[in-house]
Amino acid sequence: MTFHSFLIKYGEIGIKGKNRYMFEDALVRQIRYVLQNVDGEFLVHKCHGRVYVDCEGGYDYEETVESLKKVFGIVGICPVVRKPVKELEELKKDVVVYVGEMYPEGNKTFKVEARRANKRYPVNSMEINCALGEAVLDAYPEMKVDVHNPDIRLNVEIREEVYLYSEIIPGPGGMPVGTNGSAMLLLSGGIDSPVAGYMIAKRGVEIEAVYFHAPPYTSERAKEKVVDLARLVSAYAGPIKLHIVNFTDIQLYIYEKCPHDELTIIMRRYMMRIAEHFAKKDGCLGLITGESIGQVASQTMQSLLATNAVCTLPVYRPLIGFDKREIVEISEKIDTYETSILPYEDCCTIFVAKHPVTKPNVERIEKSETNLTEKIDELMKTAIETAEVVTVRQESLS
Ligand code: ATP
Ligand code: MG
Repeated sequence: MTFHSFLIKYGEIGIKGKNRYMFEDALVRQIRYVLQNVDGEFLVHKCHGRVYVDCEGGYDYEETVESLKKVFGIVGICPVVRKPVKELEELKKDVVVYVGEMYPEGNKTFKVEARRANKRYPVNSMEINCALGEAVLDAYPEMKVDVHNPDIRLNVEIREEVYLYSEIIPGPGGMPVGTNGSAMLLLSGGIDSPVAGYMIAKRGVEIEAVYFHAPPYTSERAKEKVVDLARLVSAYAGPIKLHIVNFTDIQLYIYEKCPHDELTIIMRRYMMRIAEHFAKKDGCLGLITGESIGQVASQTMQSLLATNAVCTLPVYRPLIGFDKREIVEISEKIDTYETSILPYEDCCTIFVAKHPVTKPNVERIEKSETNLTEKIDELMKTAIETAEVVTVRQESLS
């Protein structure tokens, strides 16, 4: 079967009035973005309160559907066969051919749902339903009509062309990226933070990211792995502006001046401060981390309190109540897992203490940080000024 278009179904709750345009425009923009790398020419447009993807000429069906499944806001993708508008007798023939090709096994229940957007068409929807239903029954005697709970809802829309569709491929749900402001993701090379970015993007939030590396303690390859992860997330989230911060001097200075059991917490506090600097500069409305309560010493409730204490923006932690197993499941689903488990060193693990505090006390941590007064402002300033900024986009499919 050759499909000529896709009808895009989206959740309509809460998108009335002005919001509706914003929602639809963001959806169209993101659909165009994911289709950029797919073989074929596509026309994405809004029409009568709907969004369509028209496929001009040849295209790769599988790739197109796979790409559309990555667009947040889409709840269903309906492959459409388009036919010229003809009078009813001819329309019956087109519908019979469609049903025969789509459901060769025959024994299904169905219901015809005709809609006449083009009111000049001389037959009304009820009459179209009856006539097409009869034609299908005549052609395929094993098929039965069920108007309440049919296996197949055969949609026939009369527009400037006739649109036939009956399959709905589930989309990812959520809201189109760009409808809910932006946030700064602290992206490491691990399993959790890419999943955290994905989850917040799913709510319509545009993502920027910051990665802290510590050359020569962490390698160029570890940094490339983070760029690769950002690229994988950007297949869903759209282009990601990634800040790569050289954190070595700050880490060495903390290592020299602070108690070693507090290193991780103090380091994390400086990461948050720098991330917040970039976030505010770019108008981001929050920070995102991959933290989950109790996963490691730096993620106990007390540690989270200590890390959080330096932030003025809200910190979104979408994985907070998830077990590792649940996070791994999502990372497999979104295709980041294989990259995340590549064995490159992580700047958090280079300078870790053998026995990190699990119940840090904020006042004590603040006091330890006073040991850094002499040079830390200068080091932060340098780290910020020398950050490398790259915009990472989805990878081409072929
Ligand atoms: P992940 O799997 O995301 O690396 P993790 O289980 O290794 O997380 P931590 O190392 O404690 O946990 O980091 C907690 C969070 O802090 C990460 O999810 C990430 O948001 C942020 N983070 C940690 N290290 C870095 C880094 N080098 N650069 C940017 N963000 C980081
Ligand atoms: Mg990590």
